[in-house]
Amino acid sequence: MTEIYNFIDHEKIDSLLEEGKRKAKDFKLVREILAKTKDLERLPLEDVAVLVNVEDPELVDEIYKAALWIKEQIYGNRIVIFAPLYISSYCKNDCLYCAFRVSNKDVDRAALTMEQIKKEIEQLLKQGHKRVLLVAGEAYPPEKGLEYVFEAIDTIYSVKLGEGINIRRINVNIAPLTVEEFKALKEHHIGTYQLFQETYHLPTYEKVHVAGPKRDYLWRLWAMDRAFEAGIDDVGMGVLFGLYDWRWELLALFMHVDHLEECFGMGPHTISVPRIEPAVGAPISENPPYAVSDEEFKRLVAIIRLAVPYTGMILSTRENPQMRREALKLGISQISAGSRTNPGGYSLSEEEYLKGAQFSLGDHRPLDEVVYDLLDMGFTPSFCTACYRLGRTGLDFMELAKPGDIKYKCEPNAMSTLLEYLIDFASDKTRQKGMEFIENKIKTYDERQKKIVEALLEKVREGKRDVYV
Ligand code: SF4
Repeated sequence: MTEIYNFIDHEKIDSLLEEGKRKAKDFKLVREILAKTKDLERLPLEDVAVLVNVEDPELVDEIYKAALWIKEQIYGNRIVIFAPLYISSYCKNDCLYCAFRVSNKDVDRAALTMEQIKKEIEQLLKQGHKRVLLVAGEAYPPEKGLEYVFEAIDTIYSVKLGEGINIRRINVNIAPLTVEEFKALKEHHIGTYQLFQETYHLPTYEKVHVAGPKRDYLWRLWAMDRAFEAGIDDVGMGVLFGLYDWRWELLALFMHVDHLEECFGMGPHTISVPRIEPAVGAPISENPPYAVSDEEFKRLVAIIRLAVPYTGMILSTRENPQMRREALKLGISQISAGSRTNPGGYSLSEEEYLKGAQFSLGDHRPLDEVVYDLLDMGFTPSFCTACYRLGRTGLDFMELAKPGDIKYKCEPNAMSTLLEYLIDFASDKTRQKGMEFIENKIKTYDERQKKIVEALLEKVREGKRDVYV
Protein backbone atom coordinates (compact mmCIF):
# COMPACT_ATOMS: atom_id res chain seq x y z
CA MET A 1 0.00 0.00 0.00
CA THR A 2 1.47 3.35 -1.06
CA GLU A 3 2.02 5.82 1.72
CA ILE A 4 -0.19 8.82 1.16
CA TYR A 5 1.03 12.38 1.43
CA ASN A 6 0.03 15.75 0.04
CA PHE A 7 1.55 15.84 -3.43
CA ILE A 8 0.04 19.28 -4.03
CA ASP A 9 3.15 21.24 -3.15
CA HIS A 10 1.64 24.51 -1.89
CA GLU A 11 4.94 26.35 -1.56
CA LYS A 12 6.04 25.40 -5.05
CA ILE A 13 2.76 26.70 -6.49
CA ASP A 14 3.18 29.99 -4.62
CA SER A 15 6.68 30.49 -5.95
CA LEU A 16 5.77 29.44 -9.52
CA LEU A 17 2.99 32.01 -9.50
CA GLU A 18 5.34 34.73 -8.22
CA GLU A 19 7.82 33.94 -10.95
CA GLY A 20 4.99 33.68 -13.52
CA LYS A 21 3.72 37.14 -12.63
CA ARG A 22 7.07 38.64 -13.50
CA LYS A 23 7.48 36.65 -16.73
CA ALA A 24 3.94 37.31 -17.98
CA LYS A 25 4.97 40.86 -18.88
CA ASP A 26 7.48 39.51 -21.39
CA PHE A 27 5.54 39.38 -24.68
CA LYS A 28 8.26 37.41 -26.43
CA LEU A 29 8.25 34.71 -23.78
CA VAL A 30 4.45 34.42 -23.74
CA ARG A 31 4.44 34.06 -27.52
CA GLU A 32 7.14 31.38 -27.33
CA ILE A 33 4.93 29.43 -24.92
CA LEU A 34 1.95 29.80 -27.23
CA ALA A 35 4.04 28.64 -30.18
CA LYS A 36 4.93 25.51 -28.21
CA THR A 37 1.26 24.59 -27.88
CA LYS A 38 1.20 23.82 -31.63
CA ASP A 39 3.00 20.55 -30.79
CA LEU A 40 -0.20 19.42 -29.05
CA GLU A 41 1.77 18.33 -26.01
CA ARG A 42 1.13 19.14 -22.34
CA LEU A 43 2.60 22.37 -21.03
CA PRO A 44 4.93 22.30 -18.00
CA LEU A 45 3.74 24.00 -14.81
CA GLU A 46 6.25 26.84 -15.29
CA ASP A 47 4.58 27.80 -18.56
CA VAL A 48 1.08 27.54 -17.12
CA ALA A 49 2.18 29.84 -14.29
CA VAL A 50 3.08 32.44 -16.91
CA LEU A 51 -0.15 32.10 -18.91
CA VAL A 52 -2.43 32.44 -15.88
CA ASN A 53 -0.76 35.77 -15.09
CA VAL A 54 -1.16 37.28 -18.55
CA GLU A 55 -3.32 40.42 -18.35
CA ASP A 56 -2.53 42.27 -21.56
CA PRO A 57 -5.65 42.13 -23.80
CA GLU A 58 -3.62 41.51 -26.94
CA LEU A 59 -1.92 38.50 -25.39
CA VAL A 60 -5.15 37.24 -23.84
CA ASP A 61 -6.63 37.31 -27.32
CA GLU A 62 -3.70 35.26 -28.59
CA ILE A 63 -4.33 32.74 -25.80
CA TYR A 64 -7.95 32.41 -26.98
CA LYS A 65 -6.89 31.94 -30.58
CA ALA A 66 -4.36 29.26 -29.64
CA ALA A 67 -7.02 27.44 -27.56
CA LEU A 68 -9.47 27.48 -30.44
CA TRP A 69 -6.83 26.14 -32.80
CA ILE A 70 -6.08 23.21 -30.48
CA LYS A 71 -9.73 22.48 -30.01
CA GLU A 72 -10.28 22.32 -33.74
CA GLN A 73 -7.24 20.10 -34.25
CA ILE A 74 -8.20 17.55 -31.64
CA TYR A 75 -11.95 17.70 -31.25
CA GLY A 76 -13.06 19.18 -34.53
CA ASN A 77 -16.38 20.87 -33.97
CA ARG A 78 -18.12 18.05 -32.12
CA ILE A 79 -19.78 18.75 -28.79
CA VAL A 80 -20.84 15.74 -26.75
CA ILE A 81 -24.12 16.11 -24.86
CA PHE A 82 -25.20 14.53 -21.58
CA ALA A 83 -27.70 15.04 -18.76
CA PRO A 84 -27.05 14.77 -15.03
CA LEU A 85 -29.29 12.47 -13.01
CA TYR A 86 -29.43 13.30 -9.30
CA ILE A 87 -30.60 10.21 -7.44
CA SER A 88 -30.23 11.35 -3.82
CA SER A 89 -29.88 14.67 -2.01
CA TYR A 90 -29.08 13.15 1.39
CA CYS A 91 -25.56 13.92 2.50
CA LYS A 92 -23.54 13.61 5.69
CA ASN A 93 -21.11 16.34 4.72
CA ASP A 94 -21.38 20.01 5.43
CA CYS A 95 -19.90 21.85 2.47
CA LEU A 96 -20.64 25.54 2.87
CA TYR A 97 -21.29 26.05 -0.87
CA CYS A 98 -23.84 23.25 -1.40
CA ALA A 99 -27.59 23.07 -0.82
CA PHE A 100 -27.41 19.35 0.00
CA ARG A 101 -25.20 19.95 3.07
CA VAL A 102 -26.37 18.07 6.12
CA SER A 103 -27.22 21.12 8.23
CA ASN A 104 -29.40 22.75 5.56
CA LYS A 105 -33.03 22.55 6.64
CA ASP A 106 -34.34 24.66 3.73
CA VAL A 107 -34.17 22.00 1.07
CA ASP A 108 -36.59 19.12 0.33
CA ARG A 109 -34.63 15.87 0.33
CA ALA A 110 -35.20 12.65 -1.52
CA ALA A 111 -33.50 9.39 -2.42
CA LEU A 112 -35.19 8.05 -5.51
CA THR A 113 -36.65 4.55 -5.54
CA MET A 114 -35.79 2.34 -8.50
CA GLU A 115 -39.27 2.99 -9.89
CA GLN A 116 -38.68 6.74 -9.70
CA ILE A 117 -35.28 6.33 -11.37
CA LYS A 118 -36.95 4.46 -14.23
CA LYS A 119 -39.42 7.33 -14.66
CA GLU A 120 -36.63 9.89 -14.72
CA ILE A 121 -34.76 7.90 -17.34
CA GLU A 122 -37.88 7.59 -19.46
CA GLN A 123 -38.15 11.37 -19.40
CA LEU A 124 -34.52 11.77 -20.43
CA LEU A 125 -34.83 9.19 -23.19
CA LYS A 126 -37.90 10.95 -24.54
CA GLN A 127 -35.86 14.12 -24.82
CA GLY A 128 -33.23 12.20 -26.80
CA HIS A 129 -30.46 11.73 -24.24
CA LYS A 130 -28.13 8.72 -24.47
CA ARG A 131 -25.57 9.55 -21.79
CA VAL A 132 -26.15 10.42 -18.14
CA LEU A 133 -24.02 11.50 -15.25
CA LEU A 134 -25.33 9.88 -12.07
CA VAL A 135 -24.90 12.15 -9.04
CA ALA A 136 -25.60 11.44 -5.36
CA GLY A 137 -24.81 13.15 -2.07
CA GLU A 138 -22.67 11.14 0.37
CA ALA A 139 -25.35 9.28 2.34
CA TYR A 140 -27.02 6.25 0.82
CA PRO A 141 -30.16 4.61 2.28
CA PRO A 142 -28.76 2.72 5.33
CA GLU A 143 -30.37 -0.61 4.45
CA LYS A 144 -28.58 -0.63 1.09
CA GLY A 145 -25.39 1.41 1.45
CA LEU A 146 -23.34 1.60 -1.76
CA GLU A 147 -25.53 -1.16 -3.24
CA TYR A 148 -28.09 1.61 -3.74
CA VAL A 149 -25.84 3.25 -6.34
CA PHE A 150 -25.12 -0.09 -8.04
CA GLU A 151 -28.81 -0.88 -8.22
CA ALA A 152 -29.49 2.58 -9.65
CA ILE A 153 -26.88 2.05 -12.39
CA ASP A 154 -28.35 -1.34 -13.35
CA THR A 155 -31.84 0.17 -13.34
CA ILE A 156 -30.80 3.03 -15.64
CA TYR A 157 -29.23 0.63 -18.15
CA SER A 158 -32.33 -1.58 -18.06
CA VAL A 159 -34.79 1.09 -19.29
CA LYS A 160 -35.58 0.86 -23.02
CA LEU A 161 -38.03 2.99 -24.98
CA GLY A 162 -37.52 0.96 -28.15
CA GLU A 163 -34.77 -0.87 -30.04
CA GLY A 164 -31.53 1.03 -29.36
CA ILE A 165 -33.31 3.80 -27.45
CA ASN A 166 -31.64 3.49 -24.10
CA ILE A 167 -28.95 5.10 -21.97
CA ARG A 168 -25.68 3.86 -23.42
CA ARG A 169 -23.18 5.30 -21.00
CA ILE A 170 -23.43 6.20 -17.33
CA ASN A 171 -20.75 8.37 -15.81
CA VAL A 172 -20.75 8.50 -12.04
CA ASN A 173 -20.09 11.34 -9.62
CA ILE A 174 -20.16 9.95 -6.07
CA ALA A 175 -18.01 10.24 -2.96
CA PRO A 176 -14.53 8.63 -2.95
CA LEU A 177 -14.45 4.85 -2.48
CA THR A 178 -11.98 2.24 -1.29
CA VAL A 179 -10.14 0.15 -3.91
CA GLU A 180 -12.48 -2.78 -3.25
CA GLU A 181 -15.53 -0.57 -3.68
CA PHE A 182 -14.13 0.91 -6.90
CA LYS A 183 -13.66 -2.64 -8.21
CA ALA A 184 -17.31 -3.36 -7.46
CA LEU A 185 -18.34 -0.09 -9.15
CA LYS A 186 -16.40 -1.04 -12.28
CA GLU A 187 -18.36 -4.29 -12.54
CA HIS A 188 -21.47 -2.19 -13.17
CA HIS A 189 -20.02 -0.88 -16.45
CA ILE A 190 -19.60 2.76 -15.66
CA GLY A 191 -18.07 5.18 -18.14
CA THR A 192 -16.15 7.87 -16.27
CA TYR A 193 -15.72 8.05 -12.51
CA GLN A 194 -15.88 11.75 -11.76
CA LEU A 195 -14.76 13.50 -8.59
CA PHE A 196 -13.78 17.10 -7.99
CA GLN A 197 -11.31 18.10 -5.31
CA GLU A 198 -13.40 21.33 -5.09
CA THR A 199 -10.35 23.25 -3.86
CA TYR A 200 -6.77 21.98 -3.74
CA HIS A 201 -5.81 24.72 -1.30
CA LEU A 202 -5.67 22.90 2.04
CA PRO A 203 -6.48 25.81 4.42
CA THR A 204 -9.49 26.75 2.24
CA TYR A 205 -10.53 23.11 1.96
CA GLU A 206 -10.62 22.82 5.74
CA LYS A 207 -12.54 26.05 6.08
CA VAL A 208 -15.36 25.19 3.67
CA HIS A 209 -15.82 21.52 4.58
CA VAL A 210 -16.96 21.86 8.14
CA ALA A 211 -18.21 18.35 8.94
CA GLY A 212 -18.43 14.84 7.57
CA PRO A 213 -16.03 12.42 5.87
CA LYS A 214 -15.30 14.95 3.15
CA ARG A 215 -13.17 16.88 5.62
CA ASP A 216 -10.44 14.33 4.91
CA TYR A 217 -8.51 16.15 2.15
CA LEU A 218 -6.02 13.36 1.51
CA TRP A 219 -8.68 10.64 1.23
CA ARG A 220 -10.27 12.67 -1.55
CA LEU A 221 -6.95 13.64 -3.16
CA TRP A 222 -5.93 9.99 -3.49
CA ALA A 223 -9.31 8.79 -4.78
CA MET A 224 -8.17 8.73 -8.41
CA ASP A 225 -5.14 6.60 -7.46
CA ARG A 226 -7.49 4.08 -5.85
CA ALA A 227 -9.80 4.17 -8.88
CA PHE A 228 -6.88 3.48 -11.23
CA GLU A 229 -5.63 0.74 -8.90
CA ALA A 230 -9.08 -0.84 -9.10
CA GLY A 231 -8.90 -0.86 -12.90
CA ILE A 232 -11.10 2.18 -13.61
CA ASP A 233 -8.99 3.86 -16.27
CA ASP A 234 -11.38 6.65 -17.12
CA VAL A 235 -11.61 9.43 -14.54
CA GLY A 236 -12.87 13.01 -14.54
CA MET A 237 -11.41 15.76 -12.38
CA GLY A 238 -12.39 19.31 -11.55
CA VAL A 239 -12.26 22.33 -9.30
CA LEU A 240 -15.16 24.36 -7.93
CA PHE A 241 -14.03 27.78 -9.06
CA GLY A 242 -14.64 30.62 -6.62
CA LEU A 243 -13.38 28.99 -3.42
CA TYR A 244 -9.76 30.03 -3.91
CA ASP A 245 -7.63 31.89 -6.49
CA TRP A 246 -8.30 30.22 -9.87
CA ARG A 247 -4.67 30.66 -10.93
CA TRP A 248 -3.48 28.72 -7.92
CA GLU A 249 -6.13 26.04 -8.45
CA LEU A 250 -5.10 25.50 -12.07
CA LEU A 251 -1.50 24.83 -11.12
CA ALA A 252 -2.63 22.45 -8.39
CA LEU A 253 -4.96 20.66 -10.80
CA PHE A 254 -2.09 20.10 -13.23
CA MET A 255 0.12 18.93 -10.36
CA HIS A 256 -2.56 16.32 -9.72
CA VAL A 257 -2.48 15.36 -13.42
CA ASP A 258 1.34 15.10 -13.23
CA HIS A 259 1.02 12.80 -10.24
CA LEU A 260 -1.38 10.46 -12.07
CA GLU A 261 0.75 10.45 -15.19
CA GLU A 262 3.85 9.60 -13.16
CA CYS A 263 2.11 6.80 -11.26
CA PHE A 264 -0.16 5.33 -13.93
CA GLY A 265 1.05 6.67 -17.27
CA MET A 266 -2.21 8.54 -17.93
CA GLY A 267 -4.18 11.52 -16.76
CA PRO A 268 -7.89 12.28 -16.54
CA HIS A 269 -10.27 11.74 -19.45
CA THR A 270 -12.11 14.95 -18.61
CA ILE A 271 -11.77 18.13 -16.58
CA SER A 272 -14.88 19.99 -15.42
CA VAL A 273 -15.01 23.71 -14.74
CA PRO A 274 -17.94 24.44 -12.40
CA ARG A 275 -18.19 27.97 -11.02
CA ILE A 276 -19.97 28.49 -7.70
CA GLU A 277 -23.61 29.39 -8.22
CA PRO A 278 -26.12 30.54 -5.59
CA ALA A 279 -27.65 27.61 -3.72
CA VAL A 280 -30.42 27.64 -1.11
CA GLY A 281 -29.05 27.55 2.45
CA ALA A 282 -25.41 27.60 1.34
CA PRO A 283 -23.80 30.79 2.72
CA ILE A 284 -20.63 30.81 0.63
CA SER A 285 -22.47 30.32 -2.63
CA GLU A 286 -24.05 33.79 -2.53
CA ASN A 287 -20.76 35.51 -2.06
CA PRO A 288 -17.83 33.31 -3.11
CA PRO A 289 -14.52 34.27 -1.46
CA TYR A 290 -12.64 34.26 -4.80
CA ALA A 291 -15.43 34.94 -7.30
CA VAL A 292 -14.25 34.33 -10.86
CA SER A 293 -15.36 37.00 -13.35
CA ASP A 294 -16.60 36.04 -16.83
CA GLU A 295 -13.39 37.30 -18.34
CA GLU A 296 -11.28 35.22 -15.94
CA PHE A 297 -13.49 32.22 -16.54
CA LYS A 298 -12.85 32.36 -20.27
CA ARG A 299 -9.15 32.61 -19.63
CA LEU A 300 -9.09 29.60 -17.34
CA VAL A 301 -11.02 27.50 -19.87
CA ALA A 302 -8.61 28.49 -22.64
CA ILE A 303 -5.54 27.79 -20.48
CA ILE A 304 -6.78 24.31 -19.53
CA ARG A 305 -7.27 23.64 -23.25
CA LEU A 306 -3.67 24.68 -23.93
CA ALA A 307 -2.16 22.88 -20.95
CA VAL A 308 -3.77 19.45 -21.42
CA PRO A 309 -4.80 19.28 -25.07
CA TYR A 310 -6.05 15.66 -25.05
CA THR A 311 -8.31 15.98 -22.04
CA GLY A 312 -12.02 16.55 -22.68
CA MET A 313 -13.54 19.59 -20.98
CA ILE A 314 -17.00 19.67 -19.49
CA LEU A 315 -19.27 22.66 -18.94
CA SER A 316 -22.57 22.36 -17.09
CA THR A 317 -25.79 24.36 -17.20
CA ARG A 318 -24.53 26.43 -14.26
CA GLU A 319 -23.34 28.85 -16.95
CA ASN A 320 -25.79 30.93 -18.97
CA PRO A 321 -26.26 30.37 -22.73
CA GLN A 322 -24.02 33.28 -23.70
CA MET A 323 -21.10 32.11 -21.58
CA ARG A 324 -21.62 28.56 -22.82
CA ARG A 325 -21.42 29.76 -26.42
CA GLU A 326 -18.18 31.60 -25.74
CA ALA A 327 -16.62 28.75 -23.79
CA LEU A 328 -17.37 26.31 -26.61
CA LYS A 329 -14.98 28.28 -28.78
CA LEU A 330 -12.24 28.11 -26.17
CA GLY A 331 -12.02 24.41 -25.58
CA ILE A 332 -15.17 22.90 -24.09
CA SER A 333 -15.94 19.52 -25.66
CA GLN A 334 -18.88 18.27 -23.55
CA ILE A 335 -21.93 20.04 -22.18
CA SER A 336 -24.98 19.06 -20.21
CA ALA A 337 -28.34 20.15 -21.57
CA GLY A 338 -31.91 20.31 -20.31
CA SER A 339 -30.57 19.62 -16.79
CA ARG A 340 -32.38 19.34 -13.47
CA THR A 341 -30.22 19.18 -10.38
CA ASN A 342 -32.45 17.54 -7.80
CA PRO A 343 -33.63 13.97 -7.43
CA GLY A 344 -36.83 13.46 -9.41
CA GLY A 345 -36.38 16.83 -11.14
CA TYR A 346 -37.17 15.59 -14.65
CA SER A 347 -40.62 14.43 -13.56
CA LEU A 348 -41.50 17.73 -11.81
CA SER A 349 -43.03 21.02 -12.85
CA GLU A 350 -40.64 24.01 -13.02
CA GLU A 351 -41.93 25.41 -9.70
CA GLU A 352 -41.71 22.14 -7.76
CA TYR A 353 -38.30 21.53 -9.22
CA LEU A 354 -36.79 24.79 -7.95
CA LYS A 355 -37.46 23.87 -4.29
CA GLY A 356 -34.95 21.05 -4.13
CA ALA A 357 -32.15 21.94 -6.54
CA GLN A 358 -28.45 21.66 -5.60
CA PHE A 359 -27.66 25.06 -7.13
CA SER A 360 -29.36 27.48 -9.49
CA LEU A 361 -28.93 26.97 -13.21
CA GLY A 362 -27.87 29.54 -15.76
CA ASP A 363 -29.15 27.64 -18.79
CA HIS A 364 -32.74 26.40 -18.56
CA ARG A 365 -33.19 25.62 -22.24
CA PRO A 366 -34.54 22.21 -23.22
CA LEU A 367 -32.28 19.84 -25.13
CA ASP A 368 -33.91 20.56 -28.49
CA GLU A 369 -33.12 24.26 -28.19
CA VAL A 370 -29.53 23.58 -27.20
CA VAL A 371 -29.10 21.24 -30.18
CA TYR A 372 -30.52 23.91 -32.51
CA ASP A 373 -28.19 26.52 -31.05
CA LEU A 374 -25.14 24.28 -31.47
CA LEU A 375 -26.05 23.57 -35.11
CA ASP A 376 -26.56 27.26 -35.66
CA MET A 377 -23.05 27.98 -34.39
CA GLY A 378 -21.60 25.29 -36.66
CA PHE A 379 -20.98 22.70 -33.93
CA THR A 380 -21.96 19.06 -34.34
CA PRO A 381 -24.07 17.93 -31.37
CA SER A 382 -22.93 14.38 -30.63
CA PHE A 383 -24.61 11.66 -28.59
CA CYS A 384 -21.78 9.23 -29.24
CA THR A 385 -20.82 6.66 -26.64
CA ALA A 386 -18.78 4.38 -28.90
CA CYS A 387 -15.33 4.57 -27.31
CA TYR A 388 -16.40 3.28 -23.98
CA ARG A 389 -18.49 0.50 -25.54
CA LEU A 390 -15.55 -0.62 -27.68
CA GLY A 391 -13.17 -0.49 -24.73
CA ARG A 392 -11.36 2.56 -26.10
CA THR A 393 -10.68 4.11 -22.72
CA GLY A 394 -7.63 5.12 -20.70
CA LEU A 395 -4.43 4.82 -22.71
CA ASP A 396 -6.29 3.48 -25.74
CA PHE A 397 -8.41 6.61 -25.79
CA MET A 398 -5.38 8.87 -25.47
CA GLU A 399 -3.94 7.11 -28.52
CA LEU A 400 -7.17 7.57 -30.41
CA ALA A 401 -7.36 11.24 -29.59
CA LYS A 402 -5.00 12.03 -32.44
CA PRO A 403 -6.35 14.12 -35.28
CA GLY A 404 -6.41 11.41 -37.96
CA ASP A 405 -8.28 8.81 -35.98
CA ILE A 406 -10.81 11.26 -34.72
CA LYS A 407 -11.67 12.09 -38.29
CA TYR A 408 -12.52 8.52 -39.20
CA LYS A 409 -14.09 7.40 -35.92
CA CYS A 410 -15.46 10.19 -33.72
CA GLU A 411 -16.76 12.29 -36.60
CA PRO A 412 -18.77 9.44 -38.23
CA ASN A 413 -20.18 8.44 -34.84
CA ALA A 414 -21.15 12.02 -34.06
CA MET A 415 -22.99 12.26 -37.36
CA SER A 416 -24.86 8.97 -36.95
CA THR A 417 -26.00 9.80 -33.40
CA LEU A 418 -27.02 13.27 -34.52
CA LEU A 419 -29.13 11.78 -37.30
CA GLU A 420 -30.74 9.37 -34.81
CA TYR A 421 -31.64 12.33 -32.64
CA LEU A 422 -33.03 14.34 -35.54
CA ILE A 423 -35.23 11.48 -36.77
CA ASP A 424 -36.44 10.25 -33.37
CA PHE A 425 -36.73 13.30 -31.11
CA ALA A 426 -36.07 16.70 -32.71
CA SER A 427 -38.70 19.36 -33.32
CA ASP A 428 -39.44 20.10 -36.98
CA LYS A 429 -37.37 23.26 -36.85
CA THR A 430 -34.32 21.51 -35.38
CA ARG A 431 -34.73 18.52 -37.70
CA GLN A 432 -34.68 20.70 -40.77
CA LYS A 433 -31.68 22.63 -39.51
CA GLY A 434 -29.86 19.40 -38.65
CA MET A 435 -30.54 17.72 -41.98
CA GLU A 436 -29.12 20.72 -43.84
CA PHE A 437 -26.16 20.72 -41.49
CA ILE A 438 -25.40 17.06 -42.21
CA GLU A 439 -25.70 17.58 -45.96
CA ASN A 440 -23.29 20.50 -45.90
CA LYS A 441 -20.89 18.78 -43.56
CA ILE A 442 -20.53 15.74 -45.79
CA LYS A 443 -19.39 18.01 -48.61
CA THR A 444 -16.32 18.95 -46.55
CA TYR A 445 -15.09 15.35 -46.04
CA ASP A 446 -12.37 13.51 -47.93
CA GLU A 447 -13.43 10.40 -49.88
CA ARG A 448 -12.57 7.92 -47.12
CA GLN A 449 -14.41 9.89 -44.47
CA LYS A 450 -17.42 10.37 -46.75
CA LYS A 451 -17.66 6.62 -47.32
CA ILE A 452 -17.56 5.80 -43.60
CA VAL A 453 -20.07 8.48 -42.65
CA GLU A 454 -22.51 7.69 -45.44
CA ALA A 455 -22.49 3.98 -44.61
CA LEU A 456 -23.42 4.77 -41.00
CA LEU A 457 -26.07 7.32 -41.95
CA GLU A 458 -27.66 4.86 -44.35
CA LYS A 459 -28.06 2.33 -41.54
CA VAL A 460 -29.75 4.96 -39.36
CA ARG A 461 -32.08 5.93 -42.22
CA GLU A 462 -32.99 2.24 -42.60
CA GLY A 463 -34.14 2.28 -38.98
CA LYS A 464 -31.06 0.79 -37.27
CA ARG A 465 -29.97 2.48 -34.05
CA ASP A 466 -26.76 2.53 -32.06
CA VAL A 467 -24.45 2.05 -35.03
CA TYR A 468 -20.83 3.14 -34.69
CA VAL A 469 -17.25 2.53 -35.79
S1 SF4 B 1 -20.97 19.13 -2.19
FE1 SF4 B 1 -21.39 16.95 -2.23
S2 SF4 B 1 -20.53 16.24 -0.33
FE2 SF4 B 1 -20.78 18.44 -0.06
S3 SF4 B 1 -22.78 18.69 0.87
FE3 SF4 B 1 -23.05 18.82 -1.36
S4 SF4 B 1 -23.58 16.75 -1.99
FE4 SF4 B 1 -22.69 16.63 0.07
